Amino acid sequence: MESQKIISFIRETFKQKEGFIPLHVPYFRGNEKKYVLDTIDSTFVSSVGAYVTRFEEMMKNITGAKYAIATVNGTTALHLALILAGVKNGTEVITQPLTFVATANAIVHAGGMPVFVDVDIDTLGLSPTALRQFLLEHTERDENGKCINKTSKRRIAACVPMHTFGFPAKIAEIAEICNEYGIPLVEDAAESLGSYTNGRHTGTFGLLGTFSFNGNKTVTCGGGGVIVTNDDSIGHKAKHISTTAKVQHSWEFYHDDIGYNYRLPNLNAALACAQLEELNHILTNKKELAALYKGFFRDSAIKFVDEPQATSANFWLNTIVFPDHESQQDFLRESNGHQVMTRPIWKLMSSLPMYQYCEKDSLTNSKWLEERVVNIPSSVRPKSK
Ligand SMILES: *Cc1c(COP(=O)(O)O)cnc(C)c1O
Repeated sequence: MESQKIISFIRETFKQKEGFIPLHVPYFRGNEKKYVLDTIDSTFVSSVGAYVTRFEEMMKNITGAKYAIATVNGTTALHLALILAGVKNGTEVITQPLTFVATANAIVHAGGMPVFVDVDIDTLGLSPTALRQFLLEHTERDENGKCINKTSKRRIAACVPMHTFGFPAKIAEIAEICNEYGIPLVEDAAESLGSYTNGRHTGTFGLLGTFSFNGNKTVTCGGGGVIVTNDDSIGHKAKHISTTAKVQHSWEFYHDDIGYNYRLPNLNAALACAQLEELNHILTNKKELAALYKGFFRDSAIKFVDEPQATSANFWLNTIVFPDHESQQDFLRESNGHQVMTRPIWKLMSSLPMYQYCEKDSLTNSKWLEERVVNIPSSVRPKSK
């Protein structure tokens, strides 16, 4: 199928004959202004305020997690989650090479070294088969039952799968393997708010999960992140260290740990609450768009990425897979040249200068996808209601 046909279909679908069509923009039609103005009128714009608590309550309801802790962005949420899982200097963390750079950065911020293991072609997320094979071939247990990399002698302190573009990875299988090997599972669910596997929300299959509310995500609060967990001790500690580890007292300053100033301001939380009120509406709207794309690509050599089996995806970014690298590049050139914004999937983390020396497996599927995957415009299409 020639690029021009796809571009015309995108323009038709967004009812925009000319001008720029972005990849993904925020959608505000509810209480956003009202709640943000409320924080200004009340002077509670900073890290103390009712909207932060309300946002956390809403995230508990949506994900079903026992604890939800709001932070300033998804990167800091992941950074803290990794520390709480036990990542420190001299440990390793298994993740996928096909992810946004923040995943690998947060691992290093926590003191860990990323180890890149391949993804599955159908989910675009960490492959349980590749994970099992890596662990079988490269790790052993020490006297305390900890999983140790046989070559580097470092402890594997966590495994961080990522639900790419909102498509759930094979998370139940990954959780089972992590359990078997005694490796804490931390899900980078930054892109998968509203995505489920067997009715269970992504981010809640392991010890910890993290979300992002950056401007380009499914819903946004300018910048924001959330940590979720069902573990009581970790839940309390997450809140404590994200708020400078200050011990509650009416007037005294006493801090009992090296804390972080990662608490989300009330100003952002207000926007988050208004956005989450619209979440179901947004998800439905995005599913309708995905269904249109799916129909369009049905008989094409270009494959539309659909929800993996037994999952419900949020279709944050609609995704197509070209038959080869040349057709991917042609389409990127044509579409962006005609003001229809499209983007290739990320360059593999293992090819970036700061991560090129990290341990990795063959990454066969990751390399295959890197050459073929493109995201196409996926914003909510406003409707009169
Ligand atoms: C967006 C994103 C993050 C980081 O979120 P920020 O809020 O931008 O810090 C982390 N991981 C993945 C996979 C993301 O897409």
